[in-house]
Amino acid sequence: MPGFESFGALERKEVEDVLDNGVLMRYGFDAMRNGHYKAQSLEEEIQKTLEVNHAQLVTNGTAAVSVALALAGIGAGDEVIMPCFTFVASFEAIMMLGAIPVLVDIDDTLTLNPEAVTKAITNKTKAIMPVHMCGSMANLDALMTIAKDHNLKLIEDACQAIGGTYKGKYLGTYGDLGCFSFDFVKTITCGEGGAVVTNNAQYAKNADLFTDHGHDHIGNDRGAELHPYLGYNFRISELNAAVGLAQIRRLKDFIAIQKKNYTILREALSVFPEVTFRTVPEGGEESYAFLNFFLPDLDTARKVSSTFKETGVDACFHYYDNNWHYIRKWEHLKDIKTLYPVSNDVKNGLAYLQTKTFEASDHFIGRNISCLIKLSWTEQQVRERAQLMVDAIKQSL
Ligand SMILES: *Cc1c(COP(=O)(O)O)cnc(C)c1O
Repeated sequence: MPGFESFGALERKEVEDVLDNGVLMRYGFDAMRNGHYKAQSLEEEIQKTLEVNHAQLVTNGTAAVSVALALAGIGAGDEVIMPCFTFVASFEAIMMLGAIPVLVDIDDTLTLNPEAVTKAITNKTKAIMPVHMCGSMANLDALMTIAKDHNLKLIEDACQAIGGTYKGKYLGTYGDLGCFSFDFVKTITCGEGGAVVTNNAQYAKNADLFTDHGHDHIGNDRGAELHPYLGYNFRISELNAAVGLAQIRRLKDFIAIQKKNYTILREALSVFPEVTFRTVPEGGEESYAFLNFFLPDLDTARKVSSTFKETGVDACFHYYDNNWHYIRKWEHLKDIKTLYPVSNDVKNGLAYLQTKTFEASDHFIGRNISCLIKLSWTEQQVRERAQLMVDAIKQSL
């Protein structure tokens, strides 16, 4: 997945443009900047690449989720349905708005189970937020139907899935709003950065305001701008945007390399009838950022995971035993360990986590291993890795 493996002359050239004129800020300073508007150019490039009408850059992917939710009108006391397998940022972003993350089971797509979503809807539910984990997607048709039937917003956390598609359209462009991260380990990196995309012109206009203190960006002189709404500062710097601009132009190449490496590993593991792969909804095409496979049971998955570590098969994750990505180890959320006070609505809204179990998800995450696909591997390295993986699995079954 990581674009950082592949920095080169293109990234350097874009960053040098910024350093040459010294304008590190995305707005204003028109006379000094020698025509370089890297953040704006990156937004245009995202729109073109992902075939979406509007893209708003922000400081990071976590901010992208908070901004998308705020734009969709979600705030204090509202419930947002999301999967129990994701990165912690997804619920942090909900909590920062005073809203309530309602965690539900995943299925063998490793993201939201539509039936679990329907069961979790209450009169406080305002949005459904699928997280397209590890480069593949939730069943978007089913989720869009549920959202429509119940008058809910659909917000896609596509932070790990840039370049993946569903029925011919890019992930992140199905929902009312979609979110991307360009942090250091994502497919495309700015160092730190993120984006909110939408086809809704009103959301786009509000995104422009909201992410820069409510400024309307009308006219050249920042001092004379109006601020029709309260906003906040989620601005990306020109330096970060410059790196991303070089990276996004290479997205299709990155995806092609990922697909090639993924396919070699997947074919190697396909010799085992006991090994199965995550379900990709019909019409979906992964971004091939990760290869996700299931072993017959938890013990075997643990064995394979530790043999991978012993034999040097790096960057493979058994999320069941990891802190960051699965409900099992999110004690801080379950016990509401915030550094800021939360409302009674949030306290009551999160009480379900004291007793709710996630057996259906345990069944998938317990048996799953997720291997990062790197861009920098040579074909020989991929084949050697495939052999090590086959050996580890053979020895553990
Ligand atoms: C990385 C990530 C985020 C947050 O992005 P940052 O840029 O690191 O803030 C949110 N959701 C998911 C699923 C992620 O993987």
